[in-house]
Amino acid sequence: MRIDLHTHTSVSDGELTPQILIEQAIESGVDVLAITDHDTVGAFEQLKHGSNQITLITGTELSSHWQKTGVHIVGLNIDLHSETLQTGLARQQNARNIRAEKIARRLSKIGLANTLAGARQYSGDTSIGRVHFAQHLVNSGAVKDFKTAFKKYLGAGKAGDVKSEWLGMSEVIDWITQANGHAVLAHPAKYKLTNRKLEQLVQDFAAAGGHAIEVVSGKQDAQLTSRLARLATRHSLLASTGSDFHRPGQNWAALGTQPALPADSEPVWNNWGL
Ligand code: AMP
Ligand code: MN
Ligand code: MN
Ligand code: MN
Repeated sequence: MRIDLHTHTSVSDGELTPQILIEQAIESGVDVLAITDHDTVGAFEQLKHGSNQITLITGTELSSHWQKTGVHIVGLNIDLHSETLQTGLARQQNARNIRAEKIARRLSKIGLANTLAGARQYSGDTSIGRVHFAQHLVNSGAVKDFKTAFKKYLGAGKAGDVKSEWLGMSEVIDWITQANGHAVLAHPAKYKLTNRKLEQLVQDFAAAGGHAIEVVSGKQDAQLTSRLARLATRHSLLASTGSDFHRPGQNWAALGTQPALPADSEPVWNNWGL
């Protein structure tokens, strides 16, 4: 079974509409797909009827912080109608809007004017994020490509890296739990923490009621996979896998092409009745 539990659509910072994402996932041989847009479940509102060719899992990827690090918590198999979750997502959208204004103010101080209106052209009215600023910076000629946009202006420690709006990790885990979902620590290796810090993060994540960690995130080497599998086991957490697909052409995050979970990992979907 081909499983991809971390993907984005045009409802957040992905390129494909929810419907087209599903079509491409089916074409790529994906059997089980979770859509996990940043701080929104809007994709599911657009999908009026399911498909008998693929199992769709509800999801979202929530921004939060742990100590001074911005961390992403994926919620899987969530009840979309949960009041706690709905209130939480509205709060996140508001935080994204406030944050976008801050990002624009900071960028204008270093000579990049009117970036909010520019970013809005790409985000539409939901889930505005740094990718939309990057799109504007590239298409207005301020930088030559996405990579440079993050390296110079939006990536970790740069002017556009505003984390102050996010709540603590345990709060967003609670929303997911209250929506009967499974909370998954997304891409643990992306936070660039020391081994010791990552161990602490995962310990706190488990203590806060987290269920699983992404033992596999996109194309990654076998050494990292076994390291993360052991990390999960040490903290009695389940294992998840996802591409973190955003757009076609990024072969490190293509739909459903991640390496398999280690045989001794216990998958997060074990009791989903798939
Ligand atoms: P935000 O949710 O606004 O904090 O933006 C985070 C998103 O930016 C991630 O989900 C990625 O899609 C994208 N991103 C983060 N870092 C980079 C990078 N260095 N290069 C390209 N895209 C990035
Ligand atoms: Mn993204
Ligand atoms: Mn993420
Ligand atoms: Mn993601």
